[in-house]
Amino acid sequence: MYERPIVFDEICLTGATATVAEVMGFSAPAESAASIKPIVKKAENVFSGRKADRALLYNPDAVALWLYQKYTDLFTDAAVVSDIAIPLQSVMPSVTPVCFASMYSGILPEKHGIQSYTKPVLQCELLFDCALAAGKKVAIVSTAEDSISMIFLEREMDYFIYDDHYKVNEKALELMKEDKHDIIVVYNGNYDSTMHGHGPEAPESIEALKENVATYKRFAEAVKEDWKDHDVIYGFMPDHGCHETRSGRGSHGHEVEEDMNIIHFYGFSAKESK
Ligand SMILES: [Zn+2]
Repeated sequence: MYERPIVFDEICLTGATATVAEVMGFSAPAESAASIKPIVKKAENVFSGRKADRALLYNPDAVALWLYQKYTDLFTDAAVVSDIAIPLQSVMPSVTPVCFASMYSGILPEKHGIQSYTKPVLQCELLFDCALAAGKKVAIVSTAEDSISMIFLEREMDYFIYDDHYKVNEKALELMKEDKHDIIVVYNGNYDSTMHGHGPEAPESIEALKENVATYKRFAEAVKEDWKDHDVIYGFMPDHGCHETRSGRGSHGHEVEEDMNIIHFYGFSAKESK
């Protein structure tokens, strides 16, 4: 009998740190994984060799690669506003603080130290530490008690923490308009919440996914409107995937393809020449 091989995406999400650093022209943390070639090459093409001076990094929680494969139409706007979609492998255990710690430090959980669902402030060198050392201004816009609001604290950057993701997105758009930050990180946990409560494919969850795609599209539009004098990298960057449990709800944390394989989108917007 044929046994289906397990296939994990080749590139690990730890590559995101060096990718953003390289596209923006500052050094990545010393121990971070290598940058992701297709993204860096595409950025070089769009920016004619210049380095990006703005980044909008949108982190919707728990968007699995299989959701993109099965509900491709639903991701149309994300595909249209992006220059590249890239499958990535998450890290174990595939839970939020562990994965975002790896995404923004460029190192594996055994090195950054978060190896379970705990949210201590990271002591290791982060993408943000390198950005600050390079003179960049960084803002994190996220919801209270969530991983991104907690594990990246104690840096000289601006933290905007709200009760719900609507206020988070509103604030992020406001910050883009103000144009005072070089890097803005935005977290939305709405799909993760509905997925856990109702199942990954429940109507509530599909609505949340649609909202995540629409939000990303809105940010891409704001890049063209408010950051048109900048070379900008923007991304749709989830942390891990999800699977349906026997009870019909959603979960993640396991070393299975549904939890480990995720999809990232990246877009590049060159400044308008004057
Ligand atoms: Zn998560």
